[in-house]
Amino acid sequence: MTDPRYALLFEPQRIGPVTAPNRFYQVPHCNGGGYRDPSAAAEMRAVKAEGGWGVIFTEQTEMHHTSEITPFIELRLWEDQDIPSIAKMAGRMKRHGALAGIQLAYSGINGPNLYTKEVPLAPTALPIRTFTNDPVQARAMDRQDIRNLRRWFVTAGRRCKVAGFDLICLYGAHGFGIFQHFLSRATNQRSDEYGGSLENRSRLVREVIADLRDAVGDTMGLTLRVSLDETIGTLGFSNAELRDFIEMNRDLPDLWDLAHGTWQDCSGPSRFKDEAAQEELVRGIRELTSRPIVGVGRFTSPDVMVRMIRQGVLDFIGCARPSIADPFLPAKIRDGRIEDIRECIGCNICISGDMTQGMGRCTQNPTWMEEFRRGWHPERVQARGSSQNVLIVGSGPAGLEAARVLSQRGYDVALAEARDEIGGRVTRERALPGLSAWGRVVDYRLHQLGQRPNVEIYRGSDLDAGQILDFGFQNVCIATGSIWRRDGVARQHVVPLPIDPDMPVLTPDDLMHGARARGHVVVFDDDHYYMGGVLAELLVLQGCTVTLVTPAPHVSDWARNTLEQSAIHARLAGMGVAIVLNRGVAAIHATHVETNCTYTDRRDRLDCDAVLLVTSRLSQDRLFHDLVARQAEWRDRGIATVRLIGDAAAPGPIAWATFAGHRYARELDAPDIGDALPFRREVTALAD
Ligand code: ADP
Ligand code: SF4
Repeated sequence: MTDPRYALLFEPQRIGPVTAPNRFYQVPHCNGGGYRDPSAAAEMRAVKAEGGWGVIFTEQTEMHHTSEITPFIELRLWEDQDIPSIAKMAGRMKRHGALAGIQLAYSGINGPNLYTKEVPLAPTALPIRTFTNDPVQARAMDRQDIRNLRRWFVTAGRRCKVAGFDLICLYGAHGFGIFQHFLSRATNQRSDEYGGSLENRSRLVREVIADLRDAVGDTMGLTLRVSLDETIGTLGFSNAELRDFIEMNRDLPDLWDLAHGTWQDCSGPSRFKDEAAQEELVRGIRELTSRPIVGVGRFTSPDVMVRMIRQGVLDFIGCARPSIADPFLPAKIRDGRIEDIRECIGCNICISGDMTQGMGRCTQNPTWMEEFRRGWHPERVQARGSSQNVLIVGSGPAGLEAARVLSQRGYDVALAEARDEIGGRVTRERALPGLSAWGRVVDYRLHQLGQRPNVEIYRGSDLDAGQILDFGFQNVCIATGSIWRRDGVARQHVVPLPIDPDMPVLTPDDLMHGARARGHVVVFDDDHYYMGGVLAELLVLQGCTVTLVTPAPHVSDWARNTLEQSAIHARLAGMGVAIVLNRGVAAIHATHVETNCTYTDRRDRLDCDAVLLVTSRLSQDRLFHDLVARQAEWRDRGIATVRLIGDAAAPGPIAWATFAGHRYARELDAPDIGDALPFRREVTALAD
């Protein structure tokens, strides 16, 4: 039963000629699959349709071959040949009554055209603006180019209609879409009727919307995704200018989709941005227009959603990440299952799928992008196989996810944890600065396990091989995690680093277990994800003077893939951390570390009182190997399988651990597929 407090979230809403069944609006989001894996992307949207979203959008779709963003893998609609794959996605979106939307992107100053080799077109001739500073410049569009672009939008719009979409979103946010490039004085320095005044800078979007309305507007709603504040200095399209723009063009699109100026701002991780972080930038805009408004803010709380509607900030609740972490978010609110919501933790691992051209992953929802490939559904699992029970050793993210899914499948599950607290690394890391939301990985799973009669949790039970053999569970899953290395081995040093025993050396585990450092601490970060930066922050908060040394060209280099890197650098610099890039630590002496330049090996001395080594981790796999050594005894004790998963097999981010736990649980008692590929893969058909 829907709680009456949340009923207004389920009111149908008109968007131009079409009506959404409720206010849950999955805004466009990338997934790493795109045109390379169209069925995987389509099936991912299908699951959201089933989960109750009222509006579901594609990722950004390159609408003409003169503007593309290789190496990033989104959708393509360059010719009629592309229609079937996007039509498949539209069909999946509409299966349960949602409106199907497609986002059309002409990337302008953001499109380097590395694949098509076309000359990029932009309002003003400037270097291409991408994450990778490609050595490519755009040509300024002349009037004929603008007429062409208008025609290309109409052609693309007609193709979207043929494909079965209900909504078209014109992209003008995040710095990625041409409409923002025309609106912004930074990227539009034209002196003709398309440049100068705000009226002129908004001419292109007015023309394109009018053209599309004539061509497809009888049956399709037109939305405009526009930047809330470009945040690139005084020339950028500001929030005040956005308000002037909307006031001037009150009823231009059928819906205003308001998103922040850069993607980093818009998809801010929980480390730097709270839920509803864009509220102040959106508040009051609704009074400037008669059209409905959608906005995002990593919404996971139905109370916050209701407040957004009641206070007139938004008409639709826009979600990307919360819809990835829990595709059934609307259905759970509708059915009064609030406690079952798998809340997004704001880690941005999902974004790394796009940034690395890998396949999308989600820390909270390991089934994401595996709906087609492995047939995984986020809510349903297949029934138990031939065996009955499983002992899981270790309650980190891998063990917890394995326990959750195995118990759902109907196995009797025993979860043993050496410590008194459940959660493994997550329970330690959630206490670090900015990472409290990550605790949801444990909270969600512990709640689910608490609902199941077939799960026993044993705390404070540090098991050895003898005990496990005595218990005689049919299946044993070893998820005993990893510990940080104390010898500096990672990438710079593949064998132990020279360390003088008189220098106090700490590891992340020491700090997480409460050890304190004093004075000047050198953080040597050869891990390159979040841990080095987070612990530098912690040490400053504890009163230390901190120098972070890394062989990488950026602090927390890999966090560029989670759109956090620049915020991490700014935070550390703002806290007074001295940042030393492109230098390693060659040796640790009693009173100082010897640093070396990554390029020239030139040495330097850095006096300090302690060193924190954030390098790599050691799998805690002894228990597994002890069991393997006694394999001859398994059969008599009733043990059929022993498996090693998660960080205990090979350390990685938390998302890798939840995936490993999920996969173990799904594949238990499954037929042996031998050397076959463990997932379905789509292969491009050869042309004649
Ligand atoms: P992962 O990320 O792979 O889930 P974690 O390091 O987060 O791994 O969690 C591993 C958990 O396993 C830790 O909480 C640890 O205390 C527990 N553990 C390790 N060895 C044993 C053991 N022999 N018996 C029971 N629990 C163990
Ligand atoms: Fe949220 Fe992290 Fe999942 Fe992305 S990967 S949806 S940020 S939990």
